[in-house]
Amino acid sequence: MAVTMKSRCVFLGAPGAGKGTQAKKLAAAGSVPHISTGDMLRAQVAAGTTLGRQAKGCMDAGQLVPDDVIVAMVVARIAEPDARAAWILDGFPRTLPQAEALDRNLSRASALSLVVSFAVPEPVLVGRLAGRRTCGKCGAIWHVQNHPTRRPGLCDACGGELVQRSDDRPEAVGKRLEVYRSQTAPLLAYYRDHRLLREIDADRSPDVVYQELLKLMQ
Ligand SMILES: [Zn+2]
Repeated sequence: MAVTMKSRCVFLGAPGAGKGTQAKKLAAAGSVPHISTGDMLRAQVAAGTTLGRQAKGCMDAGQLVPDDVIVAMVVARIAEPDARAAWILDGFPRTLPQAEALDRNLSRASALSLVVSFAVPEPVLVGRLAGRRTCGKCGAIWHVQNHPTRRPGLCDACGGELVQRSDDRPEAVGKRLEVYRSQTAPLLAYYRDHRLLREIDADRSPDVVYQELLKLMQ
């Protein structure tokens, strides 16, 4: 069933909160573009574009890609015809200066209409991230308990070997959550002040969360 979505929205959530999974599913159901800045950057790097080379230079040097580079990439994507009525922005903004830069660069017609914050208790996030495994070949995401493959260590979709991303290792997870907490608190306040923020309890089954998101976005 095709779903009509009218929201131009940002998904906010800690690593492991499930926002990427939900954004992909919503995009598939309603032909609303899922704009993942991480995926876009990786694609630019792989294609060797000017932007990709610039981004890779930053990442290789252990630096973040500058905000204005990402904002320009997002604004260009939003200007494409399929993004006229609705889109889901995932992975950006992560800081208050990024949110302000995004607002300055969106026209009134393309301004944000909704910000969804995915709330999940921290111990649940740690469990989700620590068990996450990624297929080294096709990129499919699995979980040792919640979403296991038929053969341990091997992808059901392509037979590729599963790996644990270095930033999903326990020693990295605590740090990522701490960074998220400190950066996102001002962002939540900003969007609350702008009356755009809706919080969703994302510590429930993916199907229940999905149905609630559908209602919010239609
Ligand atoms: Zn695979």
